[in-house]
Amino acid sequence: MVSFCVIKYESSKRAQERWAKRNKQYFRDWMKRKREGLTGPFSEADGPDWVAKNREYHLQQKRESTNRRRNDIHVEAIQHYGGGKCFCCGEDEPIFLALDHINGDGAKHRKEVERGHMSQWAKRNGWPPIFRVACHNCNHGLFRLGGICPHQLKKKKKAA
Ligand SMILES: [Zn+2]
Ligand SMILES: [Zn+2]
Repeated sequence: MVSFCVIKYESSKRAQERWAKRNKQYFRDWMKRKREGLTGPFSEADGPDWVAKNREYHLQQKRESTNRRRNDIHVEAIQHYGGGKCFCCGEDEPIFLALDHINGDGAKHRKEVERGHMSQWAKRNGWPPIFRVACHNCNHGLFRLGGICPHQLKKKKKAA
């Protein structure tokens, strides 16, 4: 029985080694293919620069999927914080909207969080209640007038 176990152990170990070796070889081949751009829609028939074309194709795919994912999270964030609208003027085009720090301590935070990654940061941190949604116009207005948008000033003047 003991010897059986040893044999079994031995053989499984050998199999593992064999597998690891084969895996390594497979991985090396895969990397080589990847480096040479062999996966993708182009082949040698596409001309002498098909390797470069493939590389560009894959970079493009990667960029697109990253952009798509980032955009999805951005839309999710502005829905979460502002119902998809600027808190001040009601602008609802996601491209014009951004997360704005309610307490105005954005400069410091922005330094810590990579540019354009605020929505991702907010999602990862469980949507902390420190943001509101503002369009770029209102954001700029808030910045220029130190925390109050010109829209609000106009409204105040009208009311007075
Ligand atoms: Zn606005
Ligand atoms: Zn405004």
